[in-house]
Amino acid sequence: LVRLRQRLARSQSPLGRGLLALLSRDVIDEDTWEEIEDLLITADVGVAPTQELVARLRTRVKVEGVSSASVQDILREELVTLVDPSLDRSLAVDRKDGKPAVVLVVGVNGTGKTTTVGKLARVLVAEDKQVVLGAADTFRAAAAEQLATWGERVGVPAVRGPEGSDPASVAFEAVRTGIEQEADVVLVDTAGRLQNKAGLMDELGKVKRVIEKQATVTEVLLVLDATTGQNGLQQARVFREAVDVTGIVLTKLDGSAKGGIVVAVQRELGVPVKLVGLGEGADDLAPFDPAAFVDALMG
Ligand code: GDP
Repeated sequence: LVRLRQRLARSQSPLGRGLLALLSRDVIDEDTWEEIEDLLITADVGVAPTQELVARLRTRVKVEGVSSASVQDILREELVTLVDPSLDRSLAVDRKDGKPAVVLVVGVNGTGKTTTVGKLARVLVAEDKQVVLGAADTFRAAAAEQLATWGERVGVPAVRGPEGSDPASVAFEAVRTGIEQEADVVLVDTAGRLQNKAGLMDELGKVKRVIEKQATVTEVLLVLDATTGQNGLQQARVFREAVDVTGIVLTKLDGSAKGGIVVAVQRELGVPVKLVGLGEGADDLAPFDPAAFVDALMG
């Protein structure tokens, strides 16, 4: 959490700086409210959530007659509410019915899927879990290579197939290996070609069905690049329709001023952000904590 705070603080946070500047004014007038709205929208909070938030803020300021100094506290509170601390963000990574838990990691290529699988393996290994990786992104030759490298780095086996082989059969093999080795978790990296929705649905559906012949898919994590804004959201919707997503991993939050996308993503998809990517390194994955996140966002 400390790291999350530091990383986000280091990212140029125009939201934090801008809000502080606005809220330190003596008088909060129409222009101030508009500027607050602009800042939140620029940070990708989304138009509707922003308008609701500012409306609530204005009402509270009026009703509670607060000083402009406390507006900051109210804004903090309202932002935390918007991020929704009541959502269950735990990861289902315990063995189930005497078999390994299977975590499917999906998302568009380039969002940070493979890196996330590697980092997550590291987190799980640190929790004394036995992990097996499955390189079901058979479309990109480099993807399997990259995953194998992560496996070596973290010290866990990576199951891969020949380039262009059936992703479902690689996933099947990975789960078989996981069962054989009595692993706790099998992490399956998938391909993220968005060529057409039907193709994607077919592929992910098949991968999931084939896995479920042997074990339970306990989590489907959708990886989203925080820097892609509305475009990323659009892609996320397609995945949401293709497969039952249980959690979001928001990557590249380091160096992004677009942290507000957390709010938009959860609203749009109705799925909690469970993890955040804060860099390219092995330790740069953190559980998502709403209060710490808002603190970091506001600086
Ligand atoms: P994939 O195609 O979805 O599997 O994406 P990769 O895992 O290959 O990642 C694409 C690029 O994004 C790589 O250069 C990663 O190092 C980088 N990356 C992944 N996650 C993060 C993150 O949280 N922060 C930053 N700054 N870069 C990331």
